[in-house]
Amino acid sequence: MNDWFSVEKIDNQTYVICENKHWEETRCYLLLGSQKAILIDTGLGIANIKAVVDSITELPVMVVTTHVHWDHIGGHSLFDNIAVHELEEPWLNGKFPLPLSVVKANLTRESFDAPRDFDIEKYYVFQGEPQIILHDGDYFDLGERLVKVIHTPGHSPGHCCFYEPDRKYLYSGDLIYKGCLYVNYLSTDPLLFYDSIRKIRKLSVDRIFPGHHAINIPTSIIGDIEEALWQLEQNGRLHHGSGVHSYEDFSIAL
Ligand SMILES: [Zn+2]
Ligand SMILES: [Zn+2]
Repeated sequence: MNDWFSVEKIDNQTYVICENKHWEETRCYLLLGSQKAILIDTGLGIANIKAVVDSITELPVMVVTTHVHWDHIGGHSLFDNIAVHELEEPWLNGKFPLPLSVVKANLTRESFDAPRDFDIEKYYVFQGEPQIILHDGDYFDLGERLVKVIHTPGHSPGHCCFYEPDRKYLYSGDLIYKGCLYVNYLSTDPLLFYDSIRKIRKLSVDRIFPGHHAINIPTSIIGDIEEALWQLEQNGRLHHGSGVHSYEDFSIAL
């Protein structure tokens, strides 16, 4: 039995697959329809997430990518049906922007209790051709379950959130979670990040399912992040290099 992942049931057709033993506390989500399933992100790539998915469903599974950062595409190589936003297709398909040595340094930044068969020497970042290119406003039809693609750039150029209008679930990737929000890399864009938060704020959201850390977070965090970004903009600090700004439930690294 693979005990790297822990799985929680959100409802009868929705699961969260957690990597709680690693400091990143990455979360992937498995959504089942009547005909198909989607797996939102594939995690760190430390253990076999497909085995977990296979133990839950026999439906055909498509992997959809919130964004092409190494901690969200670790298990992509295990699947043959992958979707990614058009702006990050190159990052997935041969032009991943970070050297492997930097990825490995991040992966092992804090020690963790790895599965016995994990070998850092064999760790690599998935590169391959996606089967589906995503655009803002696209829908996945899983059979009696619709999931909308919402392009939310800022943390990365092709970052997407996924939204279910019927359930009012928002899968927020690295745009919204409890913890440090990274808008300080070269490829991030603080102004686009702010725009994306405002775009999400217009949705009717009952539950937020983030890419990292705590799973049960209040929807009020969206307004709190918007308020924080508004203040930063007012104070002329919504730009790279202005530092790490801390609030009650989150911080924003710029
Ligand atoms: Zn990220
Ligand atoms: Zn992440």
